[in-house]
Amino acid sequence: MAAGLNRRQAIIHAMAVGGGLIAASGVGRARGGMRAWHEAGLRIAAAGEFTLPPLPYGYKDLEPSIDAETMEIHYSRHHKAYVDNANKALAGTPFTDWTSDRIVASLDEVPEDKRTAVRNNLGGHVNHSMFWLMMAPTGKGGGGEPTGALADAIARDFGSFAAFKEKFAEAAAKRFGSGWAWLVSHDGKLSIASTANQDCPLMTAKYAGDGATGTPVLGLDVWEHAYYLKYRNKRADYVTAWWNLVNWTKVAQLHTATLGDGAEITK
Ligand code: MN
Repeated sequence: MAAGLNRRQAIIHAMAVGGGLIAASGVGRARGGMRAWHEAGLRIAAAGEFTLPPLPYGYKDLEPSIDAETMEIHYSRHHKAYVDNANKALAGTPFTDWTSDRIVASLDEVPEDKRTAVRNNLGGHVNHSMFWLMMAPTGKGGGGEPTGALADAIARDFGSFAAFKEKFAEAAAKRFGSGWAWLVSHDGKLSIASTANQDCPLMTAKYAGDGATGTPVLGLDVWEHAYYLKYRNKRADYVTAWWNLVNWTKVAQLHTATLGDGAEITK
């Protein structure tokens, strides 16, 4: 048992370490819930010092939808700051061997004087790590429409892919100030949610908001830093262009993992 933990914390701690070991394997059998995230190859869950994950493409590869300068600043400055500040906030705490998703899901366990910093910065790290992986250059994995079980689930829960896109874009447009729009898997159903700042559907409703909790399978950053250099105040144009980058194969892998049907996930 790690020093300084009470019994309940120690149990959570042990679970977290176990989760970390599963996450480290990268490929595994899906069991649903948060674990789906790291089993889908999202390298955000590693316990210990959090690091900026490698981008799966170059800064200019998402043009013209997202310009190279925005990508460089967003990744190497904004995301890096979230990583550095999360590590700073968690230094010297027992949380250094918790996985990132478990920490953001357990914010009430984080000491109050560190909670806001962890919520904002580890939230930012988790959200951006996912955001990069859910995009790909247009025509090279990015854009188009989902197929298979994900397409069926979207049709079942939203009526059609077009209706889903409209509702998602509306959530992105209506987020006042900074935040995210999400496609969330919860109890086998898909829904659309929006969170403020760097809050995330993996957090409890107290932080993410009512109706916004679950496993995010797709997220869109609508902070001005994500689009302002190219799109200025036209967030809707950024959202329209962003559909050309969505990596539906990756979204589908993550969605499958949340269903806990034992599907094999590949990186
Ligand atoms: Mn961002």
